[in-house]
Amino acid sequence: MAYVIPAPTVPALPIADSSDLFPVRRVYCVGRNYAAHAREMGGDPTREPPFFFMKPADALQPVPGGTVVDHPYPPKTANYHFEIEMVVALAKGGRDIPVEKALDHVYGYAVGLDMTRRDLQDEAKQLRRPWELGKAADLSGPVGPLVPASRAGHPAKGTISLAVDGTVKQKADLSDMIWSVAEQIAYLSAYFELAPGDVIFSGTPDGVGAVTKGQTLTGAIEGLGEIRLKVV
Ligand code: MN
Repeated sequence: MAYVIPAPTVPALPIADSSDLFPVRRVYCVGRNYAAHAREMGGDPTREPPFFFMKPADALQPVPGGTVVDHPYPPKTANYHFEIEMVVALAKGGRDIPVEKALDHVYGYAVGLDMTRRDLQDEAKQLRRPWELGKAADLSGPVGPLVPASRAGHPAKGTISLAVDGTVKQKADLSDMIWSVAEQIAYLSAYFELAPGDVIFSGTPDGVGAVTKGQTLTGAIEGLGEIRLKVV
């Protein structure tokens, strides 16, 4: 048996200080997981259940550490926003994973950006349409090298920040998350069977904003390094 067209390549993320790769199956993203960002998006930061959307796995842009990578400004938007997020990569899957066991499923963590065509997302919200045009653009998920939990531990506090041309726009602490990583995994696994290769964007703090061509984004998370992208 053979495929009738060339098989698509498996999307993969770099591993820090290694030439190995992490193969990606699905990309889940949690919305409004920092109180101040929930407020700036017009929401209520009380602890109502988290909500999720997805990006296609091939919308990830693997970003090697220690270098500035070109990030193409996508079509059909005039309001392209950065959202700095900690990315969680799963080594093990399952259904109905208990919170207390959830972190045992994590391979590692990375610095990521949930790049968003905010104008298209806002329009979708108004028209009660799905979010893909806003959230699933090609290369809309830059992710830096994954740091294995065996090295990084399970970061529950530490600074998460994003700067545009050196000016800090987003700065918060991982401990400001409304839903912890363990709670996100447990919650998701009640709705989907999670599997090795699944990736979770764990939400962004407040301060999101637009970028234009020529600007350089620097995203950093304490203990996980930084990524730098030039919007082109
Ligand atoms: Mn986000």
